[in-house]
Amino acid sequence: MIILMAGESTTEHVAAVAAQVEQDGYTSHVWSGQRTIVAVVGHSATPLTPAVYEQMSGVEKVTPTRVPYTLASRQFHTETTQFPLNGCKIGADKVLVIAGPCSVEGREQIIETACAVKEAGATALRGGAFKPRTSPYSFQGHGERGLQWLAEAREVTGLPVVTEVMDPHLVDMVGQYADVLQVGARNMQNFTLLNAVGLSRKPVLLKRGMSSTVEDLLMAAEYVLAGGNHQVMLCERGIRTFETATRNTFDLNAIPVLKQLTHLPVIADPSHAVGKSEYVEPVARAAVAAGADGLIVEVHLDPPNAMSDGRQSLTAAQFTAMMQAVRRVAAAVDRSA
Ligand code: PEP
Ligand code: MN
Repeated sequence: MIILMAGESTTEHVAAVAAQVEQDGYTSHVWSGQRTIVAVVGHSATPLTPAVYEQMSGVEKVTPTRVPYTLASRQFHTETTQFPLNGCKIGADKVLVIAGPCSVEGREQIIETACAVKEAGATALRGGAFKPRTSPYSFQGHGERGLQWLAEAREVTGLPVVTEVMDPHLVDMVGQYADVLQVGARNMQNFTLLNAVGLSRKPVLLKRGMSSTVEDLLMAAEYVLAGGNHQVMLCERGIRTFETATRNTFDLNAIPVLKQLTHLPVIADPSHAVGKSEYVEPVARAAVAAGADGLIVEVHLDPPNAMSDGRQSLTAAQFTAMMQAVRRVAAAVDRSA
């Protein structure tokens, strides 16, 4: 249920509504934009009676939620969510470009790659220290040592760090080094992990599961929002289909669909979507044209020798060319990159 407060409502009115919500056994989330909106979520043996709320002072209108992801929906929060990340604003006009290797392979590698992507115009650095690998025998990442190298790369370049957290017990530790916590496709429905990042106050990049619907993704985001962490970005990274020409199938449709359904910023990952470096730039361009608020792209200085995902990694020169092309597309849709 969504409660729209009247323009002249006071904080006392909002507090009284919140107290009624609590008495009914539900949880309230208050959003103060141009108008104050109270979302009522949770479950209780007491059925919600809109009339009880409609007659309260300061309440203008009560509407049932049309979707199960109340806090992620545009019904709750009509304007696109924006949040700052090291001087730039996610969800604003400028398209955020997160770039870097799939895995942090060593200190020099991550610092050199960070310098190269910064030079080309990236706004954030990516790199996995904890890697979710299909095979237990593949490189699993350097763990905390990798996070320390990422932090050094941030010191050298000023680029904020986006890195994956796989274990709910390690959210605080990863958060000590990272500027953005990435929840990977394989963990999109790891509800214990979603609850843990929901308690963190670091922005979260939530990737769509490879067999998940758009609604599944929004429900996963709802877990994080319900925990009180409002800084969530959603990421379309390709889904599994019958097609084998590419690693996954990039769901371009998901971008305008998500932009309509949710106020959360939407990021596209063309690298994992296609799996082959030669297709990354055209898909990146398409994503920006379709309204993506950002891109996350894998870049490696020596792709044939990468420890993971070399086949889809752009060289520094390819990434520079991609940035130039993406800037032209961004300008054509009244944005910048
Ligand atoms: C990654 O970003 O390197 C990664 C493992 O992505 P995904 O979770 O989308 O497969
Ligand atoms: Mn990867």
